[in-house]
Amino acid sequence: MQLTQLHDQTWVIQGGANIGVIAHEDRCLIIDSGMDKDTGREILNQVKKLGLTPTALLVTHAHADHFGGAHYLVRQTGLKVYATRVEAAVMSGPILEPLYLFSGAQPPRELQHKFLLAKPCLVDTVLAGNEQTVDHIPLQVVSLPGHSIEQVGVAFGNTLFIGDAFLTPEILDKHRIPFYTDIQTGLTTLTTLKKQIASFKHIVAGHGEIYTSVERANGAIEYTVKRLEDILENVRAALADGDARPMTDLLRTVADAQGVNIETLSQYVLCNTTVQSAVSTLYMRGEINPLFQHNFLAWQRTR
Ligand SMILES: [Zn+2]
Repeated sequence: MQLTQLHDQTWVIQGGANIGVIAHEDRCLIIDSGMDKDTGREILNQVKKLGLTPTALLVTHAHADHFGGAHYLVRQTGLKVYATRVEAAVMSGPILEPLYLFSGAQPPRELQHKFLLAKPCLVDTVLAGNEQTVDHIPLQVVSLPGHSIEQVGVAFGNTLFIGDAFLTPEILDKHRIPFYTDIQTGLTTLTTLKKQIASFKHIVAGHGEIYTSVERANGAIEYTVKRLEDILENVRAALADGDARPMTDLLRTVADAQGVNIETLSQYVLCNTTVQSAVSTLYMRGEINPLFQHNFLAWQRTR
């Protein structure tokens, strides 16, 4: 993992996920904890090199690749953990992540690997999502729901940490269907974020490059918006002939259109959640309706 200094008091540890470090006197706040014990250990090594004592961890959202290392960090240092309410619930009961992905039913073994099931970590302080200090460090917690239901980011000085609110074009091109639990809210978040980033010098997404140019970050936001709008459009197109179709057909249509070849249960449930969220968005907008026939749920356009 690579340590990059952004400012006097701000660093990013770049690896599978980007970890933020904000120093305050001789202690520091860590933003996200990576996937597992190994990442946790690496974070502690890097922070030690800076001569800082980690006293707080803020988790942007409860996906295993962002909080999996928290269990280890707490055990090693006793640092205090901060997260919003729903994310905190998943962190304290991590089975909830594969459980919700599998529609609330006992998730099969294939969904209980470290990418989807992290070790538990209790949250000490539940964030409202608009705090101006964390662990007595002046900063701004920013609400960024969409990718995850109560995701937050952190603004500190000229740096903005945004979790997975937008994804880099490289990652979007790789995964094709980005994971989103709430596309409707996510699109609003991205519109707001476009205005917010103008005043920052560094924009740190949860994965990939650190943006030092507002134009490039804007490009990534626009690309994320486009992918989400495309998925909504794929669902509309699938229902354009007026026939009612089940979720399975809609998922297949979106996957075909996006060039995704689903081959594993993990990939299936992740893509399915995003498409389900597209269906939910279109239903909320009054564009489609559920139709029940012979114990069969299908979706049909309303106009
Ligand atoms: Zn995530």
